Amino acid sequence: MKHLAKQLVEKQPVYEPGRPIEDVARELGLDLRSIIKLASNESPFGPSPMALEAAREALTNGHRYPDGNATHLKEKIAETLSLKPEQLVLGNGSNEIIELLGHAFLRKGDEAVMGKSAFIVYKLVTLLFEAVPVEVPLAGHRHDLRAMADRITDKTRMVFLPSPNNPTGTANEESEILAFARDLPPHVVFVFDEAYAEYLDSPPDLRPLIEEGRNVVCLRTFSKIYGLAALRIGYGYGSAEWAALLNRVRQPFNTNAVAQVAALAALDDRKFVSECRRRTREGKEQLERGLAAAGIEFVPSEGNFIMIKVGDGRAFFERMQREGVIVRPLDGYGLSEFVRVSIGTAAENERFVRTLESFKSSSD
Ligand SMILES: *Cc1c(COP(=O)(O)O)cnc(C)c1O
Repeated sequence: MKHLAKQLVEKQPVYEPGRPIEDVARELGLDLRSIIKLASNESPFGPSPMALEAAREALTNGHRYPDGNATHLKEKIAETLSLKPEQLVLGNGSNEIIELLGHAFLRKGDEAVMGKSAFIVYKLVTLLFEAVPVEVPLAGHRHDLRAMADRITDKTRMVFLPSPNNPTGTANEESEILAFARDLPPHVVFVFDEAYAEYLDSPPDLRPLIEEGRNVVCLRTFSKIYGLAALRIGYGYGSAEWAALLNRVRQPFNTNAVAQVAALAALDDRKFVSECRRRTREGKEQLERGLAAAGIEFVPSEGNFIMIKVGDGRAFFERMQREGVIVRPLDGYGLSEFVRVSIGTAAENERFVRTLESFKSSSD
């Protein structure tokens, strides 16, 4: 049926996800339990017990359609962020919000400005709507907001900024982000991706921009610190006008009932979240010590992952995989000398570091 498909479908690049443990076990004939996955920036600490309990209970109503408006969850998020529920849009992961932004705003030939080694979904969605990705090189692995501002034209419709960025782990300062956003012309939608905001001590606050009536949208997810990646739930917030637009282009039941109640309970379990944050920091220090001892360069990270310089990233990824450790190669991001390692439990981090050391001693 190839010839029946739209041309852009054949040209569309394919997203390469972190490899699932089951696939690797099957391919390499390894025991499932001997494999660790540090490849998708998932929380190794799992969901909060409160979220699990809520999810289990929601399953008994599995025969009912979910609340398409996610009323309770929106109220809870709005309360947490001092917003109005009408300013929120829920998505099947925040990735879906990125796609909905494309539906609502990207026309053929529009330009979308993004970092060259930014989260790759921005580029994929831009291409899907026949818009043009304008990729701006990072400076020192950090988004270069001046260079991005220089690439804004009459055709620019959207600008993406993730901070911290995935995969580089770098973040931009609140003051430079606010100044950048205030300088954007009124025909541009500024998309600020806060997938890792909860790992920061004081994440940039863009709500003043929204209050000023600027075209600013922020994205958050329950896939990272809240440990609900499998349930696929995230959200965007902006003006009520923006949210009303996006709600017209989404499917009526885009987020499921189990995810909605689990996310709500996860927000309530603040103690669990701060514990996850603390353990992630400790894990980061543990990995950093191990990398330093092995003489491996890394980019200091503000997220729950570290980008490390290994020479041939693809070869390193394969070698680690044979030892039962799944990391993420980054050649798709134009970073072929690097891999990305998600911060795991203390035992997983230890295993990664010991595997690194074994590489070193076998090549000495
Ligand atoms: C993980 C991630 C997301 C969130 O993805 P979900 O669809 O919510 O699972 C969004 N942006 C960035 C930069 C990410 O790394």
